[in-house]
Amino acid sequence: MQRIKLKEDFFTQLQKVIAADRLLLDEPMSKHTTFRIGGPADYLILPASAREVSAVLVIAREHGLPVTILGNGSNVLVLDKGIRGLVLKFDATMGRISHTGTTVKAGAGASLGDVSRYAAAHGLTGLEFAVGIPGSIGGAVFMNAGAYDGEIGCFVAAVTAVCPDGKLKRFSHADIRFGYRDSAFQHNRCIICEVELTLAAGDDDAIGMKMTDYTTRREAKQPIEMPSAGSTFKRPPGHYAGTLIEQAGLKGFKIGGAQVSGKHAGFIVNAGGATATDVLSLIKEVQRQVHERFGVRLQPEVRIFGEE
Ligand SMILES: Cc1cc2nc3c(=O)[nH]c(=O)nc-3n(C[C@H](O)[C@H](O)[C@H](O)COP(=O)(O)OP(=O)(O)OC[C@H]3O[C@@H](n4cnc5c(N)ncnc54)[C@H](O)[C@@H]3O)c2cc1C
Repeated sequence: MQRIKLKEDFFTQLQKVIAADRLLLDEPMSKHTTFRIGGPADYLILPASAREVSAVLVIAREHGLPVTILGNGSNVLVLDKGIRGLVLKFDATMGRISHTGTTVKAGAGASLGDVSRYAAAHGLTGLEFAVGIPGSIGGAVFMNAGAYDGEIGCFVAAVTAVCPDGKLKRFSHADIRFGYRDSAFQHNRCIICEVELTLAAGDDDAIGMKMTDYTTRREAKQPIEMPSAGSTFKRPPGHYAGTLIEQAGLKGFKIGGAQVSGKHAGFIVNAGGATATDVLSLIKEVQRQVHERFGVRLQPEVRIFGEE
């Protein structure tokens, strides 16, 4: 693995836009993914504003560098040789949350749990389902994350994003074309910077009870104590991926350090020292056996970045 060679002024240009403590070189991605797996990114940048995102995109384009976007890294598998070019990671640096009436605005890096708790603290209902999903609000919109009785797309009124030409664009709910674990952002390469949500006034006790119920159910059923990227596969029409995997006898099945969780077969966990290669091999083996047994082709929900 070799870092992409750059024209001399590239770094000077980046330093003019991004503060030194938010510009990391050869940063291990295992520190930035909930799987705790992944080789180094050449350059990891923590943007603080849409203006910075736009400026970085312009510099990257000028130097022909690929740009990868990361939120909390809770739905990604980064391969063992890492990511060439720039990674823009959205975290609390760009995670301001505010509200006016029933409209909540959040920077893309705000944690979904924090947005859910912020809404609850202001008597707003709708986001209770999201309290235990460990992503950023930007990643949640990109994925149209959902659980129990809700999906983030149902509450998104608008999104402000930086598009590949470096320009800021406002997307309405209709523009985003939410589908099952799908949104326009998976197809248009625009980078989500701010999300506007429409919630409803609710009853504090009812909101609190729902959040406690969902948290208890998650703790009982999911291997949240182990590093993972959540559900490995999308729900195939008419089935549950976890049930098919369990019925194929694969609960607890292991390749290297990657294991089909013994608690919930829909999750692949890092049982200790797993490499991305272990996880990929396990994904392929699970797909093969489930297809052989039930004729169902499981599609990964987890997104895969980097070099093998
Ligand atoms: C224990 C556990 C439980 C989970 N439970 C659920 C669940 O119940 N429901 C569910 O839907 N998911 C669940 N997940 C998966 C994951 O948390 C969600 O998909 C989450 O929305 C991903 O957000 P993220 O910020 O971590 O995104 P990342 O994993 O960092 O990125 C995911 C994708 O979004 C893109 N992306 C991220 N931020 C932006 C942005 N600002 N602009 C453009 N693109 C962006 C990335 O490029 C990548 O393709 C779970 C994961 C774990 C580990």
